[in-house]
Amino acid sequence: MKWNEVRCPIIKKMKIYNSMNRQLEDFVPLNPEQVSIYSCGPTVYDYIHMGNARTALVTDIIRRYLVYRGYNVKLVQNLTDIDDKIIGRAAELGVSAKQLAHQNGEAFFEDSQRLGIQPADVAPKATEHIPEMISLIQTLLDKGAAYVIDGSVYYRVNQFAEYGKLSGRKPEDLLAGARVEVDERKEDPRDFDMWKAAKPGEPSWESPWGRGRPGWHIECSAMAMKHLGETIDIHAGGEDLQFPHHENEIAQSELATGCTFARYWIHVAFLKIDGRRMGKSEQNFILLRDALDNYPTEVVRHFLISAHYRHPLDYNQESLAKSEGALRRLNNCLDALKKYDGQFEANGTGGAALQDAIQTMKSQFITAMDTDFNTAQALGAIFTLVSEVNRSLSVSDEADAPALAQAYQALTESCQVLGIYGADVERSDEGDVEQRDQLVNLLLEIRQDARSRKDWDTSDKIRDRLKELNIEIQDTREGATWKIVS
Ligand SMILES: [Zn+2]
Repeated sequence: MKWNEVRCPIIKKMKIYNSMNRQLEDFVPLNPEQVSIYSCGPTVYDYIHMGNARTALVTDIIRRYLVYRGYNVKLVQNLTDIDDKIIGRAAELGVSAKQLAHQNGEAFFEDSQRLGIQPADVAPKATEHIPEMISLIQTLLDKGAAYVIDGSVYYRVNQFAEYGKLSGRKPEDLLAGARVEVDERKEDPRDFDMWKAAKPGEPSWESPWGRGRPGWHIECSAMAMKHLGETIDIHAGGEDLQFPHHENEIAQSELATGCTFARYWIHVAFLKIDGRRMGKSEQNFILLRDALDNYPTEVVRHFLISAHYRHPLDYNQESLAKSEGALRRLNNCLDALKKYDGQFEANGTGGAALQDAIQTMKSQFITAMDTDFNTAQALGAIFTLVSEVNRSLSVSDEADAPALAQAYQALTESCQVLGIYGADVERSDEGDVEQRDQLVNLLLEIRQDARSRKDWDTSDKIRDRLKELNIEIQDTREGATWKIVS
């Protein structure tokens, strides 16, 4: 069974911590049939690091769990493929901004897939939504909420009375925290650009205000509303995006439509490394693809959800080793349980204690996930049951077979919702092939050494044993070669 085929058996009220109101709230989607989620995707100037992966994975888990809860979900996750950082990095590398954004966009999809993240229903790119952004900016100009200076368009913050409601910042804090490079031409230092007049050599598009490119915040407002409508259920992103990015998205969207832009705001805490925030600007980060080269998908997933998403999580060897150990315990347990799968009808009256433990796990798992997607507690429930099962298996009483079958089903179901068992990842076997080639070449070298010592026994043994593995050695004047035979 796959993650999207299992359904939660109990329906109570789910609660989500809404950053807008800074409290846990009952989750009631606008449309009971379909939950809409917008998640701010990466700015594709480089590969994504583990901090970015945490946000992407939390979104994936939220979606999986809502599906498990019986909701249909439409997830939109954008790519910011035009931005100062992309232009800057492309210039450094001597490639076009378009080419760099394309390569890193593809790398992002590849890395996400390797982490077992289900693709978003829509993955809009900013550069493919310029007309929608222009039209939104025009609406704001028509409403007097924006002004043009030398081909750039600025949002007039004082026109939106609720500005600061998400970040909880007061106007005076906002003034102090305004952008470092204060543009003297702005009416108010808090005003931000929605359209940037073209600079020589930079990518630009036609607009009513002359050639230019969109600002980052207008991209998300325009793409979210185009694909999900004026009001969305859940808007997710990293906690660093709360201000100014999300505050500005709200200001633009709500002033334009007069509707609530997003009903639940979810902000994922930073990932830390050596106690400091993991980030590109801090120069301390681990790329997701490097982590996935060193650890299996499920281990990386386990690590990233081992803390609740609103709590800090520290990346270090020790925490990854803990996740590795946990996954080993889980897999050993499930391997041992597998033979009982389906044996619900087996004769047996034992296993009452185990059946209690299964019910406890199920209800604790759902309570944890229902309470703001608390994956840390959900994992705790799973591993408590793993210990119970191991205790039961150690006394090896076949009378427990039906309970063991139930344990197998309950554990695989919960683990699949979290994607830590049998993650639906198409694994590349390139690494395995490379390793096999190196091993065969090593054996050939050893055989060559044996031959030069006239140790024909060893030489023949290597040749014959490889033959059994469908690897045929041919001795030529240039030395031995090998090929795979079927
Ligand atoms: Zn965004």
